[in-house]
Amino acid sequence: MKRWLLLPINFIKMALIKCKECAKDVSSEADRCPHCGITISTAIRCKNCNSANTERISNASKVGSALMWGVFAAGKMTKTYKCLDCKVSW
Ligand SMILES: [Zn+2]
Ligand SMILES: [Zn+2]
Repeated sequence: MKRWLLLPINFIKMALIKCKECAKDVSSEADRCPHCGITISTAIRCKNCNSANTERISNASKVGSALMWGVFAAGKMTKTYKCLDCKVSW
């Protein structure tokens, strides 16, 4: 019974994604599909062009642009990822 109570908490913590190979639900924390065994790319996809060629904008670079551009960088401060293909950040 104790286990039963713990289950829903784990489900909330783990986001589920669909395996692109077997289309079964896989935890987004997993780097491998437990059903078919393929490696799951955890790369963040670009919201604009769907490219996986993205990078996380570090807090250090956010602070750097704030110092350089002042208020003009304020909008940039809320963006977390940048696409290296189409240069869109979000
Ligand atoms: Zn799979
Ligand atoms: Zn893009």
